[in-house]
Parts: sequence; C-alpha cells; structure tokens
Amino acid sequence: MARLRTLRSPLSILDTRTGKALAPVASEQDRKRRLDKTRGSARQRGYDRDWEKLRDVVVIERGCRCEACGIIVVLRKREATVTTPVAEVDHIESITDRPDLRLERSNLRVLCKPCHSGRTARDQGFARG
Ligand SMILES: [Zn+2]
Repeated sequence: MARLRTLRSPLSILDTRTGKALAPVASEQDRKRRLDKTRGSARQRGYDRDWEKLRDVVVIERGCRCEACGIIVVLRKREATVTTPVAEVDHIESITDRPDLRLERSNLRVLCKPCHSGRTARDQGFARG
C-alpha cells in the first residue's frame, strides 16, 4: 500500500517551456468548493465538532423523533430507511441571524429529512422545545 502511494505522483500542469510544474490539477472536490465559495464550507458556516456532538445528543434527548411530523428518525444516513429517515437538527433562529444561539439547545429542533427539506415546518408554528 505504502509503495503504491509513493508511485502516485500528483498531477500537475506542466509549463511546456521549462518543464516545471505550475500548479496541481484541482480535484473535483476543490473545484466544487471554489465554485461554492460564497457559501463557505460546512465548518465555516458554524457546523464544527461541537455542533456534531450536540446534534446527536439533542436527537437522542428528544426521543429520536421528528418534532414536526413525529416520525422516528435515526442519527446516521447509513441507518436510514424509507420509514425511518435520518434526523436533521435545524436552527430555529438561523446561524446567520443569531450566531450566539448556534449551540443553544432551545434554538434547536429535530426534524426528519423530508420536513427539513420542505422548510415549510418553520412557518407552521409548532412550539419550541
Ligand atoms: Zn418530519
């Protein structure tokens, strides 16, 4: 394995006159990241390790149920099925509006993926916490 890795040189754009590498060819991921610069990475948008830990705790505390439709949800995408969608923890006040409430439990709401994607839940006025 280690040997294979040493054989694989990074792809570069070669300057045809000097034969020197100008820049590594951007991976597809890099390219997408660059295109998506205005949005920033998940981490830059406030979804860091603290958030990842908190979101799991909140889902479990609230009984692994979507707070909008009541369906049982699971923590991980790989555990999800047609009848048990993955849990998504939504910020009631968005991080953009209230960065101070990012890790505030009362500002969080467990939703199933369909409810979260719909975003209509936000306007249906169900109670907090
Ligand atoms: Zn739901």
